[in-house]
Amino acid sequence: MRVGFIGLGSMGLPLARRLLQAGHKLSVYNRTRSRADQLKQFEPVIADSPAGAARGTEVLITMVADDPALEGVLLGEQGALAALPRGAIHVSMSTISPGLSRRLTERHRATGHAYVAAPVFGRPDAAEAGKLWIVAAGPATAIERCRPLFDAMGQGTLAAGEEPARANVIKLAGNFLLAAAIEAMGEAFVLGRKYGIPPAELLDVVNGRLFRSPIYENYGKLIADQRYEPAGFKLKHGLKDVRLALAAAEEVATPLPLASLIRDHYLSAVARGWQEIDWSGLALVAAADAGL
Ligand code: NAP
Repeated sequence: MRVGFIGLGSMGLPLARRLLQAGHKLSVYNRTRSRADQLKQFEPVIADSPAGAARGTEVLITMVADDPALEGVLLGEQGALAALPRGAIHVSMSTISPGLSRRLTERHRATGHAYVAAPVFGRPDAAEAGKLWIVAAGPATAIERCRPLFDAMGQGTLAAGEEPARANVIKLAGNFLLAAAIEAMGEAFVLGRKYGIPPAELLDVVNGRLFRSPIYENYGKLIADQRYEPAGFKLKHGLKDVRLALAAAEEVATPLPLASLIRDHYLSAVARGWQEIDWSGLALVAAADAGL
């Protein structure tokens, strides 16, 4: 397939590499061009603008950081949407607000494009290994046409209906659960440490006997080892996602008291200069508050 790919960050780069390895023809764009050079061995077209990456493609994939970044590459100067052939599909894989997803649904309808929201669960190592879980919502025919691309990037694609914003709500709810698990582990491990119980011993009991989940295992290990760099998912993006969950909840008059607390703890981390470490570094806030 002829695919345009915009956003070659921690997630986008391994995803684009997998599509190239699967034999798709990619034109790629990244704001910082040097990251695109890391794909040179696969000979993609390296575009100088988002429009350049979208021109002549059947599917455009975007994997940029947040709402403003997506609006910029899509609708800004040299934006991708105006250059995307009519009838082509735009697959937005970023974690963005349901509100922007709704606006983009209308906008694409008006310009004669199909819009699919396809946010993902899994970190860069999972992206590298083709182990992401993809939640896709949008026109069923468009999702079906993208199936070979999803299969190259993930271990499974869950279809979440025809309305794209549904996928974004599912992603935000899922990330809120992950952040809540990180917060809870951060606090529990600090309690253990203050009584001289090594985090690894506590994790063995918690994950080995009680919860048995890849989430507790993987994040528990990062927290037990206090290994927050290099970041798989940057803490500033974790804060973004909790904020997005709170904003989406506010729209429908839904309090999320735990999310509010976690947002404040992320802000404490940012105030300490920790925005670029992994978002599991939230546990450092619990440790610092306990004098560790
Ligand atoms: P990242 O490493 O920070 O990369 C962000 C990407 O967005 C880079 O390509 C960056 O370009 C681009 N970008 C940022 N601001 C831009 C702007 N104003 N205009 C144009 N391009 C801009 O982030 P990531 O971890 O790959 O995350 C990408 C998306 O996936 C986010 O929505 C994130 O929430 C989601 N996600 C991440 C993970 C994870 O574990 N990392 C997991 C699931 C979902 P430059 O290279 O020029 O900075």
